[in-house]
Amino acid sequence: MIVAKFGGTSVGDTAAIERTAAIVRGRLAQQPVVVVSALAGTTNALLDIATQAAKGQFIVAIRGIEMLRERHLAVVDELLDGSAEANDVAADVSMLFDELAHLGEALSVLGDLSLRSLDAVASYGERLSSPIVAAAFQQRGIPAVWVDARKVMVTDGAYGKARPQTDAIAEAAREHLLPILRDGRVPVLGGYIGATPEGITTTLGRGGSDYSAALFGAALDAEAIEIWTDVDGMLTADPRVIPGAKLIEHIRFDEAAELASFGAKVLHPSTIAPAVQRSIPVFIYNSHRPQAAGTRITFDAPRLSVRAVAGRGNIVLVNVKSSLMLGTPGIVRGIFSVFERFKLSVDVIATSEVSVSVTLDADLHLDAVLTELRSFGDVTVERHRGIVAVVGSGLGGHTPTMARALAALGDMRVHMCSLSASAINLTLIVDGDQVHEAMRRLHRAFFEEAA
Ligand code: ASP
Ligand code: MG
Repeated sequence: MIVAKFGGTSVGDTAAIERTAAIVRGRLAQQPVVVVSALAGTTNALLDIATQAAKGQFIVAIRGIEMLRERHLAVVDELLDGSAEANDVAADVSMLFDELAHLGEALSVLGDLSLRSLDAVASYGERLSSPIVAAAFQQRGIPAVWVDARKVMVTDGAYGKARPQTDAIAEAAREHLLPILRDGRVPVLGGYIGATPEGITTTLGRGGSDYSAALFGAALDAEAIEIWTDVDGMLTADPRVIPGAKLIEHIRFDEAAELASFGAKVLHPSTIAPAVQRSIPVFIYNSHRPQAAGTRITFDAPRLSVRAVAGRGNIVLVNVKSSLMLGTPGIVRGIFSVFERFKLSVDVIATSEVSVSVTLDADLHLDAVLTELRSFGDVTVERHRGIVAVVGSGLGGHTPTMARALAALGDMRVHMCSLSASAINLTLIVDGDQVHEAMRRLHRAFFEEAA
C-alpha cells in the first residue's frame, strides 16, 4: 500500500478536490491511504478565531467562524451536488461549526487561551476537510471510508507540537486502517491532528500533515509516501532566482535536509524522517500536473557531486581572534557556550589555530553576545553577508568540484568557506548583495555548461 497526502492547496476548493479525486482513482491498484490537510488557509483562520475569542472579541470570532462555515458548505454543495449524501455531509459540517462556535464562546468567557484549547480549535480544519473529501471520493466511485485521525495518531500531551507515540500508532493503524485496506477500500484521514491516549485532541505543529503521512506510512510499512502539493518537486535552485532551474528527480534525504535549511519550502525533511529511516521512499508531486516526474527522496539516491545550489542573504559573520587559542584547550567551547546561553543557532563554522568564525542570522540582537565574546579575544563583525551553498553528496571525494565552484565565482570575494567531513554542503560566505549573482554563476557552472 501507499500513503498519499494532499496539502491544503490540493483540497483548497472544489476544482482542487476534483483533481485530487482523479489522482486517487488512478492509484486504487496501489491501495492508497489518503491523508489530507485543511482547506488552504483554514488553519490560519482558526488560530485567528481562537485568539480573537480569547481576547473577548467574540463577535469578530463568530464572524470568522461563519465565513469558514459558508466556504465549507459551498464546497460540499458544489462537490456533492444533488447526491443523497449531500444533506448528511452538510449537516455534519454544520454541526462541527456549531461546536466550534460553542468553543469560541467558552474561550471568550474564560478570556484565556491555553495550547490545549488552541489545538482543539485548530483541529477543526482537518476534521472538516477529511469527511468532505471522503464523501467527494465516494461520489466519484472511490470506495473511501472516513477515519477520525485522532483514533490512529496517538500522541503525548505536548499541545501545540505533540510527540507521536509510534508503537501505539502502529497498533491503532493495524486496528483501524488495515481492515479497510483488506476490504479494498480507501481510508481517508486528516493530517496534523491526533489525540492523547485519554482522547484529548492534539496537533503535531504547523505543517504537520506531512509528518502524519510519514508516521502512518511507517506504521503500515508502506511502499511509498506521496506528498502532493502545488509545485513540481525540489529544484536545482530557487526558480525565482534562476528561472532555468531544473527538477531534481532523485535526491538523498540528507541533501534535502541541507536544502531545507535554505528555505526550500516544498517540505520539511524532518517531517518525513520516520518514513525515510525505514527506507520508504517519499515522492513529491504536483497535483496540478500529475503526469510530471516529481522528486523522489531516499537515503540511497546515487551520489552526485552537485545536486543543487542554494543561497540566502541577511547573514552576519562574527570572527573571534586570539593568540590565547594557541595551545589552550576549551576556548572554542567557551565561545560556543555564549551562543548556547543566548540560544543562537550558528550556521557555518570555520576555525584556524588562532580564530573562530561563525555566521548567524542578521536579524538577531547581538550586542550582549558580542560583549561576552570579547572576553575571549578580538571580535570583528561583518554585516551584510550572504551564504551560498553547493549541495551534493559526492563533494568530499571530488576536489575538482570545489575548484570549479571557486573558479565559477571568479572575482567575487569569498569571506569564508566551509566543507564538513560529511561533505554534503560546500558553503561560501559572500557579500550579501552578491548572493543571487553567486547562485547564478554556480548554477551555470554545474547545471548549464556541459560537464
Ligand atoms: N493544516 C495544518 C497547517 O496549516 C497542517 C498542514 O497543512 O500540514 O499547519
Ligand atoms: Mg500545509
